[in-house]
Amino acid sequence: MLNLPIYLDNNATTKLDERVFEAMVPYFTEHYGNAASRSHFFGWEAEEAVDYAREQVAQLVGAEPKEIVFTSGATEADNLGLKGIFEMYATKGNHIITVVTEHKAVLDTCAHIEKLGGEITYLNVDKEGLIDIESLHKAIKPSTILIAVMYANNEIGVIQSIREIGAIARKNGILFFTDATQAAGKIPINVNNDNIDLMAFSAHKMHGPKGTGALYVRRRNPRVRLMAQMDGGGHEKNMRSGTLNVPGIVGFGKACELRRIEMGKDTIQIKKLRDKLESELLKLEHVYINGSAKSRLPNTCNLSFKYIDSESLMQEFNKDIAVSSGSACTSATLEPSYVLKAIGLNNDLVRASIRFGLSRFTTEDEIDYAIDHIRKAVLKVREASLFGK
Ligand SMILES: *Cc1c(COP(=O)(O)O)cnc(C)c1O
Repeated sequence: MLNLPIYLDNNATTKLDERVFEAMVPYFTEHYGNAASRSHFFGWEAEEAVDYAREQVAQLVGAEPKEIVFTSGATEADNLGLKGIFEMYATKGNHIITVVTEHKAVLDTCAHIEKLGGEITYLNVDKEGLIDIESLHKAIKPSTILIAVMYANNEIGVIQSIREIGAIARKNGILFFTDATQAAGKIPINVNNDNIDLMAFSAHKMHGPKGTGALYVRRRNPRVRLMAQMDGGGHEKNMRSGTLNVPGIVGFGKACELRRIEMGKDTIQIKKLRDKLESELLKLEHVYINGSAKSRLPNTCNLSFKYIDSESLMQEFNKDIAVSSGSACTSATLEPSYVLKAIGLNNDLVRASIRFGLSRFTTEDEIDYAIDHIRKAVLKVREASLFGK
């Protein structure tokens, strides 16, 4: 049985896994203690649950539990990582290298840092969406304190050469930050093998709850220090004050554990369905893949349907199939996607783009339905525009 509407916008957010929900419930109802309450059982119980979740989260990315700082999500983790490093290492330098295709949570934070006296270099990407390693080398100067390159892009799914970039940072004595919000839980990540010093990720992009995320902060080789961006009771080793969101953190931990165990198996299925959707839609004329088809998340497919305005195309199937045009995060502003512009698309092709994001809950029936209805919608809209409506 096919349930409509079909959700294919998993890069914006994901469905909460029922097993995650079940793990969270007792921390709303019975175990409502404050994890910072040291004097009684309610507090101990909550603290124990947070400790356990910290291990589950750390394990997904090969970190030590102590290196995980819980936040309200990846946006906050991006802010904490970038501003926290900029302020803490001010005596060493003020230069940060990042990339034009980063998420707004990184780009807007960098713009803020520029106002505070920071100097930011924005690396361009090629038509695949990848940075040029040579231009990274050239951008490094004595004042460079941080390189910030996202693991995988939220709009086109392109995966950067993180290990190589991290090695370059390390060789030059520069810290390496990555926004891994789209990658975590979808592809294997190991902060040690990948030479990562700081990493932002979020529960709701991996079937966990909204409003919970983490910043990984390396404690050894090198030990990274941060200036807190939230002052208060000194929670999270003084790096992020505020009473911990215990149910959210428990859910995040469970989500990470499930991804660690099931990622391999899920990926095979998700990629198979993504490839089917993509190859069937590519059979239409003038349809193009945006970004590298090779170095890409298994769940993401961003296509441009030439000669079509994606907003009018989406109107044809919007009530049955949920996708997004451009980035969900910027589509409120309806400005053409800066990511697609950066990989060289002209305005028409940007406006003709649709992003599909699959998940472990996507079924073959749903993909077959989507293929059929989107093909029909494309033909219909193209015909209508051909005859001037
Ligand atoms: C979703 C997303 C964010 C923001 O995460 P929140 O937890 O919603 O704040 C940041 N970066 C990337 C790459 C994302 O996909």
